[in-house]
Amino acid sequence: MTVAPHFQFHHRTLHAEQVPLTELAEQFGTPLYVYSRHALRDAWESYRIAGQGRKLLVCYGMKANSNLAVLQEFAQLGTGFDIVSGGELARVLAAGGDPSKVVFSGVGKQVWEIEAALQAGVKCFNVESEGELERIAEIAARMGKRAPISLRVNPDVDAHTHPYISTGLKDNKFGVPIEHAPAIYARAQQLESLLITGVDCHIGSQITEISPYLDALDKLIKLIKQLQAQGVQLEHLDLGGGLGIRYTDETPATPSDLLSHVFVALDEHQLGHLEIVLEPGRSMVGNAGVLLTRVEYLKHGDGKNFAIIDAAMNDLIRPTLYDAWHSVEAVEPRPVNPDTPVYDLVGPICESGDWIARDRQLALAPDDLLAIMSAGAYAFTMSSQYNTRPRAAEVMVDGSTVHLIRPREELASLFASERLLPK
Ligand SMILES: *Cc1c(COP(=O)(O)O)cnc(C)c1O
Repeated sequence: MTVAPHFQFHHRTLHAEQVPLTELAEQFGTPLYVYSRHALRDAWESYRIAGQGRKLLVCYGMKANSNLAVLQEFAQLGTGFDIVSGGELARVLAAGGDPSKVVFSGVGKQVWEIEAALQAGVKCFNVESEGELERIAEIAARMGKRAPISLRVNPDVDAHTHPYISTGLKDNKFGVPIEHAPAIYARAQQLESLLITGVDCHIGSQITEISPYLDALDKLIKLIKQLQAQGVQLEHLDLGGGLGIRYTDETPATPSDLLSHVFVALDEHQLGHLEIVLEPGRSMVGNAGVLLTRVEYLKHGDGKNFAIIDAAMNDLIRPTLYDAWHSVEAVEPRPVNPDTPVYDLVGPICESGDWIARDRQLALAPDDLLAIMSAGAYAFTMSSQYNTRPRAAEVMVDGSTVHLIRPREELASLFASERLLPK
């Protein structure tokens, strides 16, 4: 068994759904991102079922994986989207997503981005500062529109996750301190070009327990009561994203675990009428993808062995950026015994930080295929062309059908828009 239900061994070969990864490597080359369409559907289904009978809007946190085919699949299933840039809005529209189900987060919204979002008719701006509130009000007034807004509050709770992906503590750059919220809502009440519709928070990522959410919810409920007293009636409560996935042996809380507690707490406080918005990213796509790579060389040294693979930190930066652990599976495993070497899996890039996995006992030979597991989220979207390496191709497997959803970049395209100086 691997960590990802739709990537399993059949006849000793690792498959994506019904397709052997060996065939995909043959057809499309490596490094290659391989996604499972059924894994996307299952992830959506677990949220849908958790919200049955209640008002729940799932706004997929699309920065986790924004390939148009992934967005299209989710849009067809009925999700909205959490965007963090005008570029992401353009992707939603290109994929056929519904702008009225889009929430717009991010601390640095530029004028053109706010204009584009108003033009498209997004559900809500998740406002992250007083300066942004004033800017949105001005632009909406100029455009003769009313901008729907929610204030992103920082509830100052510890999500017990990596500091780079923890966002709900008071020294993070995100949101406004929750104690300031009543005054900022009061200001918003005075601005006629604004329509107050909700409140939101997003406390971090790869959160495996629900207690940090419930701590945040407690504080938000108190705030909502205070706002009611001040004449602000909200329509929705957005608890952000952040649910974790299994990378190794985690047993993350499920959407049902989370939502059942949320609904009880809201009912207890006579807030059952509020629409709940969630912004899951990682838990929608993380285990729906693997990064398929080939071993180029093996270097056996004193004390350290390196497997040099054709995927690198430009393809998958999470290990070196967050010290993230990805499980690694040999696509056609050889028998492992106590003498089997332990390898660091490293890429060809000229940086010591270019590593994908460390200290893995694997029986390897050059040309072997490896699958870097749980590479559906914050993987391709964080990739770059560093060292003038074309970004990897992406394919979507659906049963025994394979769709190429992004061809491998052509070398010439990497510098096609650059210009030589005049002679
Ligand atoms: C990144 C992000 C998300 C998605 O987070 P996950 O941990 O991937 O679920 C949701 N909301 C906001 C505001 C984000 O920045």
